[in-house]
Amino acid sequence: MSGLALYPGSFDPVTNGHEDIVRRSLKFVDRLVVAVARNGSKTPLFSVDERVRLLEVVFAGEPKISVCSFEGLLADFARAEGADLVVRGLRAVSDFEFEFQMALMNRQLSPELETVFLMPDQHLTYLSSSIVREIAGFGGDVSAFVHPEVLKALVAKSSP
Ligand code: ADP
Repeated sequence: MSGLALYPGSFDPVTNGHEDIVRRSLKFVDRLVVAVARNGSKTPLFSVDERVRLLEVVFAGEPKISVCSFEGLLADFARAEGADLVVRGLRAVSDFEFEFQMALMNRQLSPELETVFLMPDQHLTYLSSSIVREIAGFGGDVSAFVHPEVLKALVAKSSP
């Protein structure tokens, strides 16, 4: 059981895969902060504020969940928030190497911070924000992969 856990990431945009991980984490977390990283190296489709707003819509009415953004080291942010756990999702072996490195580095920086990995439902293991962005960018139907509000935002981004 964790008092306060962080689920950090880019969430550009939030997908049903992220949502699945969040719902699973609520089985053992009292409060979860979904934290949008401001210092991602990629060029995002949605601004940080847009990503935060979409997450707020997706998790509206869920008292255990809050959404925010952060800059700098996750270990520092976790300490400032009083979080004792980091939640991450693992889709495939391809996620493993990067996640393993991040988890051990975060432990080095903050020994009291534990990382747990959750596997999504099998049908979500191939889903990523980048593939959703790509399909939506070419006018494809991503309604099976994202919340209706995210779908609306994607359509608005790709229409001229
Ligand atoms: P990144 O940090 O690679 O930009 P994201 O922001 O997309 O990752 O996602 C944050 C976390 O959610 C990561 O741990 C990632 O592995 C996980 N995640 C993303 N999509 C899925 C999915 N479909 N199923 C399970 N976990 C996922």
